[in-house]
Amino acid sequence: MLREQVYNFAPGPSTMPESALKTAAAEMLNFRGSGMSVMEISHRSALFQEVFDSACSKLRKLMNVPESHEILLLQGGATTQFAAIPMNLMEGGTADYAVTGNFSNKAAEEAKKYGTVHLAADTKPTGHDRIPTQEELSLTPDAKYFYYCSNNTIYGTEWQYVPETASILVSDMSSDILSREVDVSKFGLIYAGAQKNMAPAGLTVVIVDKALAGRELPITPKILSYKTMIETGSMLNTPPCWCIYMLDLTLDWVIAQGGVKAMDERKRERAGLLYGFLDESRVFKAHALPGSRSFMNVTFRTGSEELDAAFVKGAAERGLLNLKGHKIAGGMRASIYNAMPVEGVRALVDYMKEFEIRNA
Ligand SMILES: *Cc1c(COP(=O)(O)O)cnc(C)c1O
Repeated sequence: MLREQVYNFAPGPSTMPESALKTAAAEMLNFRGSGMSVMEISHRSALFQEVFDSACSKLRKLMNVPESHEILLLQGGATTQFAAIPMNLMEGGTADYAVTGNFSNKAAEEAKKYGTVHLAADTKPTGHDRIPTQEELSLTPDAKYFYYCSNNTIYGTEWQYVPETASILVSDMSSDILSREVDVSKFGLIYAGAQKNMAPAGLTVVIVDKALAGRELPITPKILSYKTMIETGSMLNTPPCWCIYMLDLTLDWVIAQGGVKAMDERKRERAGLLYGFLDESRVFKAHALPGSRSFMNVTFRTGSEELDAAFVKGAAERGLLNLKGHKIAGGMRASIYNAMPVEGVRALVDYMKEFEIRNA
């Protein structure tokens, strides 16, 4: 298939802005007159430091990150932060975890190794089809922090509010970062694996309040210490140079589109088309409840596994790729991150309508 014939609904790694890919292709063999690829230059060179600083300053501006917070560009994916967070912030005490899906559950399980995990919420009994309300959150008075995952990539639910807590707010924003405005000053720590909305896999963005550095358990590996990473400018060791470069190019695209506000408007248009159709459909049903629905990952099913499989197969034949749901959730999932054009969602809804006529 040609790239022009495809819309890629993959959950991560996922579709990237074409302009970023084109610039990378054009600069691949000779990066800005150096005679080398960006993958071949030293991470300690002035040329690479420029790329690093450029990505950080664009992100700081786009997300309005206050000076109190450091932006770290790290390796290890979001999963490494499941351990790094309790090692750095739990101090062997109690932390509140809201379990609203697979990744927050994994984070809570990991944290149990380093202190006491109190479940502030658990939506498993209803198949993670909703986000708890503020009133439903069970908060520990002396919790070291409150942890939640702002968008549940697998189940397709998303927090539409920022929880009010007395303790430090920590959030996994891997799959909805840069899709909405966030008041970063409210958070002790925000992190995101880059492969959903920002860059290729291999980079994790961590935005951390510098006042929280230095609380780590003595056993914390240096590579996981926020204090060390702040002190070394994310370069205790070789950072993921290529991913940082791609992040910089993606942020150029976000800025050219009108920034986070424009991303927020477009996501509403894309998700609105899909949920609007799902709520009228006689064949398809949305998994997440209204009020808890994700703007980034739309989960749905027909109720028949054979029909689901036929739908996914027929979609792929039309270039609508990677619509199969995660194996633990089943059904279908359309991941419609920032770089997904609204035309992609229109093409998907058109196919769903046709499929419905044939199978109603
Ligand atoms: C994909 C994802 C993860 C896991 O990311 P890795 O980089 O593979 O470790 C964690 N949390 C959320 C919300 C995700 O979407």
